[in-house]
Amino acid sequence: MISEDEARTQVVQTVLALPSRQVPLSRALDCFAAQDYFARLPLPAFDNSAMDGYAVVASSCKKHGRLRVIGEQPAGPDRNLRVSDGEAVRIFTGAPIPQGADAIVMQEDVTPDGTDISVNVDVESGEFLRRRGCDLAAGQMILARGERMRAATMALLASQGFADVMVGGQTTAAVISTGDELVKSGEDLQPGQIYDSNSVLLSALLRQCGVSVTAVEHSRDDRQSLHDAIKRGMKSHILIISGGVSVGEHDLVKDALLELGAKIEIWRVAVKPGKPFLFGRFESERVDSAGKMAVLHQCFVFGLPGNPVSAFVTFLQFVRPAILRMMGATNLDLRQVPAKLAAGLTNDGDRPHYIRGRLEDGKFMPVGRQESHALFGLSQANGLLRVAPGQSLKSDEIVDVQIWD
Ligand code: AMP
Ligand code: MG
Repeated sequence: MISEDEARTQVVQTVLALPSRQVPLSRALDCFAAQDYFARLPLPAFDNSAMDGYAVVASSCKKHGRLRVIGEQPAGPDRNLRVSDGEAVRIFTGAPIPQGADAIVMQEDVTPDGTDISVNVDVESGEFLRRRGCDLAAGQMILARGERMRAATMALLASQGFADVMVGGQTTAAVISTGDELVKSGEDLQPGQIYDSNSVLLSALLRQCGVSVTAVEHSRDDRQSLHDAIKRGMKSHILIISGGVSVGEHDLVKDALLELGAKIEIWRVAVKPGKPFLFGRFESERVDSAGKMAVLHQCFVFGLPGNPVSAFVTFLQFVRPAILRMMGATNLDLRQVPAKLAAGLTNDGDRPHYIRGRLEDGKFMPVGRQESHALFGLSQANGLLRVAPGQSLKSDEIVDVQIWD
């Protein structure tokens, strides 16, 4: 059994970043930049008005003064107007500044009077002007390789005229739920049967990571059923198998993977919940989409324990970083938030224990039963607290809580 850190490092070092691809900017949300991006234009790209009002020469625009309105400049093509002392140009937010003007007086601060305005305030040079480049200089880095495309970064790229962007590869995944006791929701339960919740859990977590889930299957606890499902699933970049990875007579996943030629890299990790975690891979030669070249196809296999909380925790600790690496992300860690612990906690065991709890208003409160089958508690939780073996945490102590939503 290896440590949790060793397992995560090995998983992340084994998987490979997929080839990057070009996508329309509008489709890039939550993808990771495959290159650095630099500003092509300054922002704003030209001096413009921050208000609806009048462009003026500040030194000739004083309280109780009168100015003659000589033209109008809306947002849009520059009409190349020129303002001199004693004159004003009607102007609107975002419109280019007429030559000669060095300030905008807000429309609320003037009283129109025929073709003139009388000014009700003193105006200083530079007022309500947005200067070219004051927000962003041309050439400045706007997004680093490996960073996530968020709504605002996409807007910034759009402001620079990028129609397409290079992002990390699209990862595909197949999910297999194993277990003779499992029934699909919607069907009738017989005594001893339970509904399959892991396939829903894992598909949702995969989608949250930006993975395209190509197949979700159920396999019985028999060799043939597993072989068939695995052979189909290994066509994806990632295969996640839930259940059947422990040491019981009905835990056939590891043997099935070996029989089909998988290399098992990790089996059993010192983590609670989640000890039976398995990681392996298939390598096969495939002909490329043009039918010409033989290419190496790798499928990374994750065997997660069947207990829902174990599947959840091992997904977040080991599968998620692997996926992010494959998609070209730089930061593979879950967000950590400091919080005040609402109750003391001790880990008497020999494995790090992930406690499920609720983080609210800076406080972290463990919720529900801390057992690996306790799905209700997990559903009420929004954070995970790692308690190291032998560690004792006091109430009110500040701890770092992992957040996933
Ligand atoms: P296993 O890892 O196959 O030994 O399963 C451990 C526990 O998780 C058992 O109580 C199973 O019934 C339960 N379990 C396994 N697969 C699922 C699933 N897909 N959905 C809900 N519970 C499951
Ligand atoms: Mg089972």
